[in-house]
Amino acid sequence: MAIAWRRLAEAGLDLLYPPRCVACRRAGEWLCAGCLAQVRFLPPERRAGAFGAVDGAASAAYSEGPLREAIHGFKYEGARALAPLLGEMLYAGWLAARLPGEVVVPVPLHPRRLRERGYNQSQLLARELARLAGLRLDDRTLRRERHTRPQVTLNAAERRANVEGAFGCGPALAGEAVLLVDDVFTTGATLAACAAALKAAGARSVWALTLARAPGLTQSGFGL
Ligand SMILES: [Zn+2]
Repeated sequence: MAIAWRRLAEAGLDLLYPPRCVACRRAGEWLCAGCLAQVRFLPPERRAGAFGAVDGAASAAYSEGPLREAIHGFKYEGARALAPLLGEMLYAGWLAARLPGEVVVPVPLHPRRLRERGYNQSQLLARELARLAGLRLDDRTLRRERHTRPQVTLNAAERRANVEGAFGCGPALAGEAVLLVDDVFTTGATLAACAAALKAAGARSVWALTLARAPGLTQSGFGL
């Protein structure tokens, strides 16, 4: 796997202006080879056993160090150019965990947040994954209907209350095996709220794949 990441780093990214590593600020690449080499990929695992309406989950790597910086840059500093690289990492996680699912569905942003940010980072990741894995993408049917506070400052119980009932889903995913995609797994509250909406709309199964998860979570540490 190390070879694949080196190849990615060497390939660099198509850039509109000279990039700077989002983690160490070195000029040249959005995530330099040195920082990329520090990313700790998770061993292949499927965390089966339901949490909420989610049938199971997996993550590609630990959310720490340079990857944490990269995701932060990707999400809040407009570093959209990281999408192909982070998408390849997500794809590696998908290959390793062999999650079921035929339709890739990103965790949606509320339209107001989407306007503020200009893009949905989970949608960009989902698009890359669908392309690489040859799966269908549906980024319209699951919607965030209620504007919610950012989860980052909230504890587990507050997170769950914050996103409960925030999502709605149209009929187009009835009977489908859904692969739900988000950037970071923290307590699983957002994924669980999405899965509840998907299942209520008739989705057959919902497995969740995130690019990263907080280090230190135990197998049972879903926080739900
Ligand atoms: Zn760097």
